[in-house]
Amino acid sequence: VAGKIHFVSLGCPKNTVDTERMVALAKRQGLCRASAEEADVIVVNTCGFIEPAKQESIDTILQMANHKHEGKCQKLVMAGCLSQRYPEQLAAELPEVDHFIGTADLGRLDKILQEEIAGSDRTSETDKRAVQRVLVGKPEGLAEAAYERELVGPPHSAYLKISEGCNRPCAFCSIPIMRGRQRSRDIPSLVKEAQQLGEQGVRELILVAQDTTAYGSDLPRGSADLAQLLVALDQVSDLRWIRVHYAYPSMIYPPLAETMASLERVVPYLDMPIQHVDDELLRRMRRGYTGERVEKAIEALREQIPNLWIRSTMLIGHPGETDQAHQKLLEFIEKMRIDHLGAFVFSPEDGTPSIEQPDTVDEGLAQRRRDEVMQLQQQISRTRLRELVGQTIDVLVDGVSNESEFLLQGRHVGQSPEIDGCVFLADSDAQPGDIVQAIVSDSAEYDLVAHQHQAD
Ligand code: SF4
Repeated sequence: VAGKIHFVSLGCPKNTVDTERMVALAKRQGLCRASAEEADVIVVNTCGFIEPAKQESIDTILQMANHKHEGKCQKLVMAGCLSQRYPEQLAAELPEVDHFIGTADLGRLDKILQEEIAGSDRTSETDKRAVQRVLVGKPEGLAEAAYERELVGPPHSAYLKISEGCNRPCAFCSIPIMRGRQRSRDIPSLVKEAQQLGEQGVRELILVAQDTTAYGSDLPRGSADLAQLLVALDQVSDLRWIRVHYAYPSMIYPPLAETMASLERVVPYLDMPIQHVDDELLRRMRRGYTGERVEKAIEALREQIPNLWIRSTMLIGHPGETDQAHQKLLEFIEKMRIDHLGAFVFSPEDGTPSIEQPDTVDEGLAQRRRDEVMQLQQQISRTRLRELVGQTIDVLVDGVSNESEFLLQGRHVGQSPEIDGCVFLADSDAQPGDIVQAIVSDSAEYDLVAHQHQAD
């Protein structure tokens, strides 16, 4: 064995997929995964989306750097979005980091591992100089998609990253700076990856991208869109649930909703970041739709997809958010009763148009508005879940509950992992990855309690 490696994956599920590719690369090189204390190489896959995420990435790097003095770590690698965004600055300020890898350069970890670990006995000057410290290229291409994955989460649930990058002009968002223009993978390669995941035991497949509804728009005309992809993935027999995240509100056309409703494995769930509903604010955010359009889209979706669960996010405190705009948002939430809602406070990001905009909102005020949104949502969620008491639901079992070893924990079709609540399952000896029928006996703000249905 060439050595031991430890990975820390920060940020969103798209980063998780990248980490899983790097884990597979390391395994192929003969490295095995170990704790940070035991590892010869530590890789931190960073997030650079908003200020708190950047801070968490830097804190994690500094924490991991301690293992170079106190543990066995010889190489510390910083990968992902933050590395991509500020390579020179970070290289100057973080001498403890041996290598920086960009978002489209994950495959270059291979070379670092080959030359630094497997080839550590080679000491000639040429070998030592072979791997540069900063390996950050332009965020383009899809080379990393060619690498296999080694899942880091539960073996029965996995993300499928269907495209990389984003072509939208949202004024507040730094993602296109870090991830580049949209590059979609073709349908056959995604189906192949889904089949491999299914054969390995994956039962729930979650489609992710910066904007899943734009999938295929960069490919030859007519060759692929989200509806066509869903039809193809629905044929993968090992899968039981397919769910879609990050749909753009103005891009969900009736044929897409019809396709979702008609497919056996596609669950009635849609994650659709709305960000706001005040028209002036949406104009400033460059979202390209109005509040009315969003309402219509939700109404049409609910009509076309029975029992649909919707998740969304709102961006609070963007420059220009007035009291009236905030009230409008609260009224929308009250009226539309979205099932799951998250809210995050605006973070002024370098290189984005929003940072230049006047009428900034005081951070304390933005936090209070965010709290107000979340309190309202808590009531909506509590009422929504109470409606399920007495009903029979399908539960995908994730494993033993964090709350009690006598309970299992799982999710129903309306709950995506990590972001939504869960179902606590009593009277069940099901295994992780099983889907069982259960009767809901109790509910709280975000979670349900259910008892496994016993056949008569
Ligand atoms: S669609 Fe999402 S990822 Fe793309 S620019 Fe807008 S907010 Fe950013």
